[in-house]
Amino acid sequence: MFLFTETPEFIFGSRGNRILRLGKYYYSVHVCATLDNGIVKTRWYCRTQHSRGCKAVIHTLDDVIVSCKTTHNHA
Ligand SMILES: [Zn+2]
Repeated sequence: MFLFTETPEFIFGSRGNRILRLGKYYYSVHVCATLDNGIVKTRWYCRTQHSRGCKAVIHTLDDVIVSCKTTHNHA
């Protein structure tokens, strides 16, 4: 289990897409898949800067963060 100083928050974007907020950064769904046991596995990428090379990524299982790399290359 990972410990965070910030509480992750799941919100919806203007087009109904899901967004994960952790601290001051926002993440959008990159891959979302339902496993055989019914657990939904999602990979989140930095919402604004992934296309510009930001490597920050979060993995969740049923909206619980199981691993993350939240080093952003921008403020
Ligand atoms: Zn980023």
